[in-house]
Amino acid sequence: MATEGSHCNTRMSAQYEEKYNSLKKTAGELFKKYKVEISNAINKAFPLFEILRDRGFITNEKYKESRESLIKRISVQEAVYDILSELEKTFDLTLLGALFSKAIMENYPDLKDSYRIFKKEMPDIKDFLETDAENKGQSDAQPSLDQGSGKNSCLNLLWSSPFSMNNTEISNEDSVERRNREEAPEVSTSGVKRKPGTVNPENNSTPGIKKKKKKTGQQPDVPVNFEAEILPVTCKKKTGLLIKRKLERGATRKCIRTEDGNWFTPREFEVRAGYEKANNWRNSLTCGGKTLKLLIELKYIHPPPTTKKVENSDKCVICQDGGKLFGCATCHKVFHEGCHIPPVEIARSGWKCTFCLTRNPPSHQHYRESEVLVKLMEPEELLKCAFLLLIVYASLEGKVFPNIPHENYAKEASQCLEKLRKLDKIKESLLKENYHSVESFVRAMDEFFTIPSCSDAELTQDDFKKNFKEQFAIQETN
Ligand code: ZN
Ligand code: ZN
Repeated sequence: MATEGSHCNTRMSAQYEEKYNSLKKTAGELFKKYKVEISNAINKAFPLFEILRDRGFITNEKYKESRESLIKRISVQEAVYDILSELEKTFDLTLLGALFSKAIMENYPDLKDSYRIFKKEMPDIKDFLETDAENKGQSDAQPSLDQGSGKNSCLNLLWSSPFSMNNTEISNEDSVERRNREEAPEVSTSGVKRKPGTVNPENNSTPGIKKKKKKTGQQPDVPVNFEAEILPVTCKKKTGLLIKRKLERGATRKCIRTEDGNWFTPREFEVRAGYEKANNWRNSLTCGGKTLKLLIELKYIHPPPTTKKVENSDKCVICQDGGKLFGCATCHKVFHEGCHIPPVEIARSGWKCTFCLTRNPPSHQHYRESEVLVKLMEPEELLKCAFLLLIVYASLEGKVFPNIPHENYAKEASQCLEKLRKLDKIKESLLKENYHSVESFVRAMDEFFTIPSCSDAELTQDDFKKNFKEQFAIQETN
């Protein structure tokens, strides 16, 4: 590259070019050598595939082909390897710029290992990348040939738009030549319901994709991020937002929200769309042209547990949903098996919930916070932590969710759902007894509370601290 006339090139000194070419050669060799390692760091297609396409490294055709191969059960790693092999032929340092960019590194932390290899073998490389993923802010050492153009140097331009340099033969125009491969998907990714027949003015869920003029009557092959917490689903003309988290806890949960703010189970949604007889929501509901059955098979959605139909008109204390619920023998609160911490012991008659088990104030003894923090995570401590966690869950699932207006639903609810996944990790660690002391649990919660809050209804860190002190009978005395 860098041989044809762009005004940037004219400012590159011969010395620079020499350095560039030698780096490119070494980098190309390393890239070839470590394709497997790089591929193995990529555990999900989004956003790598999208970034490679949007920045012009791969054509839209190649992008779609790779996406399709995933549907055919080729692993992400294999699909990435295939792409990298193709990119190897036209290897350029700009590719590393994209591969080790902040956006990518944040999504694939395991790539750091490959990045270290490159950096070790060619320390100069960081001058050629948009950001040094490890030593941010230390890249003042610009190449001496930089001609003093500072931050807006040719190099930086180069990294920000590799496509503009020489890849003119690869173009998003390819997307126009869409093959009539499957039936056109009816879904739109924005999650906003439209009248049948009207054109979705903003069909791009992925920023950076140029809008194309559509051929008349042809539905756009809209890319959907299947890994998102909320998926736009369609059944005939009916559209809604599927909350994965809810479906994953049981298909009898009202997990699909429609524009009018109503909630449906997948079966109810199917019926509403006019498929009363089908009784096969896995096949009749689609997202981005794929059936939910396929998305479950591809593990974009965890399969909902198969439960016997024991319906209950009550609502779970934690998540405020109905479905299969279990009652506490003492207080008669009801919970989903998995919403309670630890999970409800469904086989046990006379089962008591965590709220009841932690109710009795632990005598009149008081502790200092420092004393509590060093306590080992014995069953009693674990139960108290479970109680604290339940309260946080209830504030997020029970209060925040139902109160989000539809206009911002997908955006705000996604934030909330991502927070819940973080909370799930803490819950998992707690139940697996990975926290050996009370302190390690409290630290994890402190970190959790650094995530910006999604609503006023949410429990704050101060609330949490207050509960913590009450639960552990902490009273600081001077
Ligand atoms: Zn629940
Ligand atoms: Zn109870």
